[in-house]
Amino acid sequence: MTRYIFGQYAHPLKPEAIDFGEKCTECKRDTSFGSGLFVNRIPSQMEHESPDGEFELRDGWMCWECQQVECDQCPIGELTLEYQIVDGTILCPNCLDEQVRVGSIFEDPDNGFFHYRD
Ligand SMILES: [Zn+2]
Ligand SMILES: [Zn+2]
Repeated sequence: MTRYIFGQYAHPLKPEAIDFGEKCTECKRDTSFGSGLFVNRIPSQMEHESPDGEFELRDGWMCWECQQVECDQCPIGELTLEYQIVDGTILCPNCLDEQVRVGSIFEDPDNGFFHYRD
């Protein structure tokens, strides 16, 4: 029987970070200036798992398209970059505005965070 030490099991070989340079660590597209993906890119270091279970650590950037998340409340799951997380729910600006307007979400004046009214 093989015994695994906790922590080594998930990462049999501590991967060396792979330098992605100016590329997006998600979609591998070029995010350098003039590529069209330069605006709104953010530094990114992420662990990527390939289909055969190999991990690699990628060090590069994440383009704005890969940063988008799905709104939890739009029926179509609108992809948005300007999302707010309200008590664990991801909201696009439209849904947030709408729910602030009808009064089901309020903004905490102390810290600017949004919360659902109980
Ligand atoms: Zn990307
Ligand atoms: Zn929405």
